[in-house]
Amino acid sequence: MGLVRLLAYIVIGYLIYLLVRTLLRKSGKPEETDSDLRQNLNRLEEDPVCGVYISRETAIMKNVDGREVYFCSHNCADKYTSDSPVKD
Ligand SMILES: [Zn+2]
Repeated sequence: MGLVRLLAYIVIGYLIYLLVRTLLRKSGKPEETDSDLRQNLNRLEEDPVCGVYISRETAIMKNVDGREVYFCSHNCADKYTSDSPVKD
């Protein structure tokens, strides 16, 4: 009888432990998505013309003053190179 009670306490304790762990994991999730977002942003380049973020794989890369500038479309790339803003 006492052993069954002890087992019941262990099971209940384990369930509480799981519940607390789940709750803690839920509250810790924003940090994970933050770092995920940061990693994605590292892989993305901002189009200086329209401000859209594009991945380097799909972006149109142009060498402007020795720097690699990424564009979402040829239209934006042409616009940027024809405007040629004075930048240091
Ligand atoms: Zn663009």
